[in-house]
Order: sequence, then C-alpha cells, then structure tokens
Amino acid sequence: MKVFASGERIHLVNHKGRIYPLQLNAGATFGFSGEKILHDEIIGREDGTEVRFSGGTRFLALKPTLAEYTLHMPRGAQILYPKDLALIPVWADVYPGATIIEAGIGSGALTLFLLQAVGEKGKVISYEIRDDFARRALRNIETYLGKTLTEERLLLREENIYEGIAEASVDRIILDLPEPYKVIPHAISALRSGGIFLCFLPTVPQVERVVEALRVAKVFESIETFETLLRPWNIDGRSVRPSLRMIGHSGFITTARRVNRSFEKENVSSTTTPSIGENISC
Ligand code: SAH
Repeated sequence: MKVFASGERIHLVNHKGRIYPLQLNAGATFGFSGEKILHDEIIGREDGTEVRFSGGTRFLALKPTLAEYTLHMPRGAQILYPKDLALIPVWADVYPGATIIEAGIGSGALTLFLLQAVGEKGKVISYEIRDDFARRALRNIETYLGKTLTEERLLLREENIYEGIAEASVDRIILDLPEPYKVIPHAISALRSGGIFLCFLPTVPQVERVVEALRVAKVFESIETFETLLRPWNIDGRSVRPSLRMIGHSGFITTARRVNRSFEKENVSSTTTPSIGENISC
C-alpha cells in the first residue's frame, strides 16, 4: 500500500479534473478558495483517497505519475513533452545499468525518465551550461526521487558540452540542445562501439545539419529520424471523435549507432535494413 509522507509532492484533483500540486509538510496548512486542509490530514493516507476541505469541498489526493509530475514541476527551460519522453528510452534503448550522457538538463524532465530507466545500477551524467537551470532541475529531481537516490545515480556537470565530454566508453548520448552537431566529434570518442546517439530538435534545418554531420563522421550506422504525433480522443456519449486540440508539433528525434567499421560501407552489405519505425511484417 502506498501512503503519503511528509516532504512528498502530491496532486490534489478537483471534480473537474483540475490539478493543484502540493508539497506535503507536516504541520502546514493548504488553503483553497477560503477553505483549508491540514497537511497532516493527508500525510499517512493512501494514494488515491478522497480528502475533504474545511468547507466540505472534496479533492482526490494522488501521487502524480512521472509524466504528470514533469508537466507541473517548476520550469526554467521548456521541458520535453510526455509524447517524446515516452519514446526516447525505447529509441535510445536505455536499459538498467546503462551509463548515459545527457545535455542539457533543462528543467530535469528527460533526466527523471532516464534515471528511472537506468535503474539502481545505472548512471546519468548530465551537462548543463546554465547554473540557474542546473539548480532548479536538481531540486525537481530530488523532490521526486529523494536526495539519496539522486546522488547515487546522477552526476551533474555544469559545463559546456560543445567543448568536450570528460567520460569515455559510455552507452548512450542523449541531447536536447540547439546545436547537437557540435557534440558529434566528442560523441565519437565518448561513445562505446555499439552505443547510441539520440538528439531531439525542433526544426528541419537543425535535423539536416545533424544527420549530415553523422554521415560525414563515417562511424555512425542506422541513422534515423522521426516525429511523434499523439492525437487524444474525446469519448463521451455519442461524441466519439478526435479532440479538437492536440500538440501539433514538438520536434524530431534522430538516432544513430556508433560502430567500428573496418570496411567501406559498400562492401559490408547491399541490403537495406528496415528501421524500427517501419512495419517489417508487410
Ligand atoms: N530536456 C530538458 C530540456 C532541455 S532545454 C527537459 O526535459 O527538461 C535545453 C537545455 O540545454 C537548456 O537548459 C540549456 O541551458 C542547455 N544547453 C544549451 N547549450 C548547452 C551546452 N552547450 N552545454 C550544456 N548545456 C546546454
């Protein structure tokens, strides 16, 4: 059974589905529209329970999912949306125990998903050029994961990744910054053979530049680019239709595999490998 503890961030959800984030603090009071509730009335209660304010208004107290948490946490930089966050661990093939270089940390949304995916034996090393963003991201991550787990799994480097990567033999490099092509020379020496490079970019000219840089480097294979469109639906009585609103564009994801090729590409294979974005069964 999951019960709420002091220090934890929860979501209070009203009957309209509106979310009010709340950091539980023993002894404190939360006020809403002239009504109030003691945090102590929520601490120790089970996740998903209904709680009552002084005037009788009811709210559901829920532990936010990681996607909900990232959408409502304090932001410095623009975060990646859940639709992209969901795909990155699969397309970068992030596995328990992996060592990942990430840049920049931004508000820490992607970092949280990566930390969850690498598990207790994995490591995320995050480069961030702005110290204010680095501090905020660290607070966001510690609030969700706790200080001990964060310290065990995350190494934050307040450095410019365009100038170099200190680590070697890492499993994955995952970038959400404007000029990932500037990282490619460093990625070549930092990534282990078979390792994966992934970057997220909002515009086509940026994607063209990074793909060209990956090709020219000659040590990357399976270079692929895709975008995600997630269309929510309205299911309500006879109104069963796509929602009127959706996130029309966020960005493109490009992936590539670091290889050690000792032959020219033409001699290796003449067949085309289907990408994981294609349906290979038909
Ligand atoms: N993925 C993050 C958002 C990243 S926004 C999230 O989900 O929260 C891009 C970040 O890259 C910003 O914080 C910016 O300061 C950082 N950045 C830009 N150029 C950088 C560089 N050369 N080295 C390190 N960080 C950089």
